[in-house]
Amino acid sequence: MDTPSTRACGIHAARLNLADYARQFSDSHPPLTRAQALIEAERCYYCHDAPCTTACPTGIDVPTFIQRVAQDNNRGAARAILEANPLGGMCARVCPTEMLCEQACVRNTNEGKPVEIGSLQRYATDAYFAEPGAPLFTRAAPSGRRVAVVGAGPAGLACAHGLARFGHSVTLFDAHPKLGGLNEYGLARYKTTNNFAQQEVDWLLSIGGIEARPDQLLGRDMTLDSLLAAYDAVFLGLGLAGVNALGVAEPALQGLRAAVNFIAELRQAEDLSTVPVGRRVVVIGGGMTAVDAAVQARKLGAEEVTIVYRRGVESMSASTVEQAWAQTQGVTIRHWAAPKEVLGAGGQVQGVRFAATASRDGALVETGEQFTLEADMVLKAIGQSFVSQPVGARIELQGGRILTDESGRTSLPRVWAGGDCRHGGRDLTVEAVEHGKQAALSIHLSLSAELAAAPLLETQHG
Ligand SMILES: Cc1cc2nc3c(=O)[nH]c(=O)nc-3n(C[C@H](O)[C@H](O)[C@H](O)COP(=O)(O)OP(=O)(O)OC[C@H]3O[C@@H](n4cnc5c(N)ncnc54)[C@H](O)[C@@H]3O)c2cc1C
Ligand code: SF4
Repeated sequence: MDTPSTRACGIHAARLNLADYARQFSDSHPPLTRAQALIEAERCYYCHDAPCTTACPTGIDVPTFIQRVAQDNNRGAARAILEANPLGGMCARVCPTEMLCEQACVRNTNEGKPVEIGSLQRYATDAYFAEPGAPLFTRAAPSGRRVAVVGAGPAGLACAHGLARFGHSVTLFDAHPKLGGLNEYGLARYKTTNNFAQQEVDWLLSIGGIEARPDQLLGRDMTLDSLLAAYDAVFLGLGLAGVNALGVAEPALQGLRAAVNFIAELRQAEDLSTVPVGRRVVVIGGGMTAVDAAVQARKLGAEEVTIVYRRGVESMSASTVEQAWAQTQGVTIRHWAAPKEVLGAGGQVQGVRFAATASRDGALVETGEQFTLEADMVLKAIGQSFVSQPVGARIELQGGRILTDESGRTSLPRVWAGGDCRHGGRDLTVEAVEHGKQAALSIHLSLSAELAAAPLLETQHG
């Protein structure tokens, strides 16, 4: 909300007129038309042992779905996509395809331009969701087994959907009032327009056998022990609830805030003209969150937006495509500078003093030069962290995240984990989906083995 204190410090809502908000936050990659999709699909070589399929974390059979698009069989294409990736609609919008499937496309070698796999995936899934008709997937007979899934982001949703398909009863808990995790509260608004995140959640839940329990926080409303007592297995898809500190003093100043909170507010705003933004905004960080916060600040009407990153362009975790996107949206990216002091006066942020940095023998050092960027809004985007408190010391961690085997099993029997909270991932939506999918299969195999052993045990004991 725009308050007298925010107005005084240069942070204003309603910087644009309503038509400009609509234009700024419209779909950043408009969907393909039917004619465009058919032409693009014809570019696919339908490779045997397709490298794009190997490069997709969920292993979507890309040539098969593209062939079906070329045959105008969008329902069949959607089936091939959603069978491997139940959140294939969202992934089509947000996957950094330039690092994944499209990077592996053999058309890169011949023409320097891959088949637009993400856009075709979106075309097929959009066509299916517009007219779903009879269900694509149905549940197996009820197994009588109950699984608690905690966290309804992409990992938890994929796990819940997979378990429900196997016939298990799922209770899906989440701390937030809406399901979807960062699909709902984190991804850039121009990547997922028209409430698509909730449309996808509704479709996933329509499989049946999933009871949604929003506003339920593990560690407050239930414990791991209470879940283990009530359910046959537990899946943790808790994401990264913590925000990394700047590493310098963070005074309580109006305008200094976590980029993820700024983005969540923007995603949840019914009316974008109510979301305040500074005139001059500094974003500190080098990943997708930094780019999304900076671009959305600019789109809300900020006049100057600068991303400051402590290392060089090649070390930024935002891809080169995302960096270029930020620059075309009017965002300045400055490399080789680290924050030294957040400056403020009268309770308001005034700017940030930075030290110039350099790499010497692989170590990041300060060069001795300093400079100040004036700002009335400073957004911290230097990474999120796993908050382990809800799982206590019961589960082994590595690098601050949950240690699991390949299938997502944790060190605690009957507990699986996946998505960003699992050690060793790349913090991508598509990877969280794969973790959830793998864990659902592993939980199913484990519960099925128990079910198969049960009559045997009864015979032995009887
Ligand atoms: C700003 C931003 C932009 C991004 N953009 C992209 C992008 O464009 N493309 C891409 O591939 N990836 C992107 N990512 C990364 C992607 O969003 C994550 O990798 C993905 O959402 C991880 O899924 P998850 O299910 O593990 O966690 P989350 O999506 O974080 O979901 C975790 C869920 O667990 C719930 N939860 C947490 N703690 C508890 C608790 N104690 N009790 C109950 N519930 C709890 C939360 O409420 C949340 O709903 C972005 C991330 C951010 C922050
Ligand atoms: S899910 Fe993502 S990585 Fe996999 S094929 Fe689709 S767009 Fe590419």
